[in-house]
Amino acid sequence: MTRLVDVVVTGGGQAGLAAGYHLKRAGAEFVILDAQGEPGGAWRHAWDSLHLFSPASCSSLPGRLMPPQAGETYPDAGHVIGYLADYEQRYELPVQRPVRVQAVRRDGERLRVETDSGTWSAHVVVSATGTWWRPFRPAIPGGDIFRGRQLHTAGYSGPQEFAGRRVVVVGGGNSGAQIAADLAGHADLTWVTRREPRFLPDEIDGRALFDAATARRQALDAGLDDTGGVTALGDIVAVPPVREARDRGPLKAQPMFTRLTADGPVWADGTGAAADAIIWCTGFRPALSHLTPLGLRDRHGHIPTTGTRAVGEPRLHLLGYGDWTGPASATLIGVGRPAREMAREIAARLG
Ligand code: FAD
Repeated sequence: MTRLVDVVVTGGGQAGLAAGYHLKRAGAEFVILDAQGEPGGAWRHAWDSLHLFSPASCSSLPGRLMPPQAGETYPDAGHVIGYLADYEQRYELPVQRPVRVQAVRRDGERLRVETDSGTWSAHVVVSATGTWWRPFRPAIPGGDIFRGRQLHTAGYSGPQEFAGRRVVVVGGGNSGAQIAADLAGHADLTWVTRREPRFLPDEIDGRALFDAATARRQALDAGLDDTGGVTALGDIVAVPPVREARDRGPLKAQPMFTRLTADGPVWADGTGAAADAIIWCTGFRPALSHLTPLGLRDRHGHIPTTGTRAVGEPRLHLLGYGDWTGPASATLIGVGRPAREMAREIAARLG
């Protein structure tokens, strides 16, 4: 049986919920299909010590302020999960889970959404599947002969299992710095980054990142010079544990190694180090495999968009993922605005 609906939102993390909030206000008929059994999106999989890089008041979805977490300036992932669960209940968002969207196909005037729980037919599909599900790891010579353990940010849960082990953390972004700080004092840590780590000034947190992303979008839209956005400011928010490890000493970065042997990394000058584990904090890519049948990807693997709307398929919108679907749209505070503009556009299309 195929279920007919105006809009299918794929993914019930923060982006899917922000879409739902604005679609509801716009009077659209929609359903949100989420692959997980519980609310919370990627936050359900964060490591134990992960804290937001902005205070609660600056980490809110549209309509409802995130309440502060007792005793914490920067809320932890558990607090975010609670907030998202409350959010979808409060606004009675029609989330169905667990439902995994396997493919979206053109079907005459509609799009057919095939899932592991049946088929939906929609006028518009919003893809909000995030990036957590597609960890990226660069290829490196010897990567397959290293005898130790290799894992990605997405598989890291805390320092306990690495106590006393020789651990190499790769990556100069927020995840790399936070995981390196988390391991300092537990493991024999080596932190490697492709370039010298760039810490943001201590007084700057996620609020400034949002402002910078917005200013960049506005400049580009107005045909002005690229301000550089967030990357012009730095890469690493100096959240308290990172600041503390940086000041105490263990967050001294080594350059990136050039290859791996069975025992560990080797640098360009021939020096090597023995390692028990390598943690790749090397980012994520958008989880878009369900859209493959639409054939929209460019040669970089991206789906070009105007705002949130796919250039090659006006019935498809993409929300979250990164700045390419709206300034800071992969953050809690940033996703609201593109979600609102998207809902307006969809309502106009549906008439
Ligand atoms: P997700 O949270 O990944 O949700 C997507 C949902 O879609 C999931 O429930 C998933 O199961 C589901 N899904 C995926 N594929 C399918 C499918 N085929 N069918 C059905 N459902 C599917 N942001 C901030 O605002 N502040 C921070 O401090 C912050 N810190 C971060 C720290 C780290 C280490 C990382 C990685 C990110 C951080 N972010 C932060 C960024 C951002 O908030 C998250 O990446 C956020 O989870 C993105 O939300 P989303 O809804 O787009 O995707």
